[in-house]
Amino acid sequence: MASDQEINSQRVKQLLGKPGNGNCADCGAADPEWASYTLGVFVCLSCSGLHRNIVQISKVKSVLLDPWSSSEVEFMDSVGNNAAKAIFEQIVPAFYYCPTQKDCMLLREQWIRAKYERKEFQLVERQEPYSAELSEHVAECLGGRILLPKLTRNYVKEGFMEKTGPKHTEGFKKRWFTMDDRRLMYFKDPLDAYARGEVFIGCEENGYTVLPGLPPNTQGYHWQFGITIVTPDRKFLFACETEEDQKDWIAAFQTVIHRPMLPQEYAGKLKMIVNFSLGSFVDRCFSSLKIKFDSVPLKSGQ
Ligand SMILES: [Zn+2]
Repeated sequence: MASDQEINSQRVKQLLGKPGNGNCADCGAADPEWASYTLGVFVCLSCSGLHRNIVQISKVKSVLLDPWSSSEVEFMDSVGNNAAKAIFEQIVPAFYYCPTQKDCMLLREQWIRAKYERKEFQLVERQEPYSAELSEHVAECLGGRILLPKLTRNYVKEGFMEKTGPKHTEGFKKRWFTMDDRRLMYFKDPLDAYARGEVFIGCEENGYTVLPGLPPNTQGYHWQFGITIVTPDRKFLFACETEEDQKDWIAAFQTVIHRPMLPQEYAGKLKMIVNFSLGSFVDRCFSSLKIKFDSVPLKSGQ
């Protein structure tokens, strides 16, 4: 007669056949053979290694090799990849890049930490504002607006500037800007609860520069005192009403640009790297993005 342990071992292997459990809960790789028995998900070997970096919330075991207790098997049965996805990926922003098995460990670790450790996709309040390049691009594609929550804290600098869109042909619009360290967020109105977008400002070594003035071919009417922020991805054009404003903003940008990035700031940088390939990604996945996009808080009539 089979021992309890053999029965449990058989049962947990059978769970791999349940819908959703046939692919890694985090990267989608086929035939996962590992499981987080505290989160209730089946994951591939590579992602199981990343779960080991968040031992306070995820404990992993091999489905095939490790002994399983009845309660662990029951828990895995009660959750599983589909149910976990419904919980941990409730509100993944449309423009958030969800890595696959082909992506590097760094990307997948960010995803796993955002999902399980920071629980960013369960509560909107836990989501960090996302890069403007990206939200503008998606908003443009979808003809909608992505609004980012304004954080209540003291900003390095706040004030009105004019900005133009990614193509530099959209005309300049007056916006309220707040600079929170490396995050330059902009709002239609200072009292708005949600930002219209955000520009991530990295450091010199990574190709970020701030210059007074605007490129000579800049179109449209705008305030006199221009500022150009050069990022590895594109140029952001701003215009200030007074020279004093222009100087203050440039000084604020230079402070962060001249400061090397801290390891934790690379999470923001990472999102930017991901954004580089998003143009084609958006086109390719337009329909699936649209579905997710609808779950991002939207405000109309602006
Ligand atoms: Zn995986």
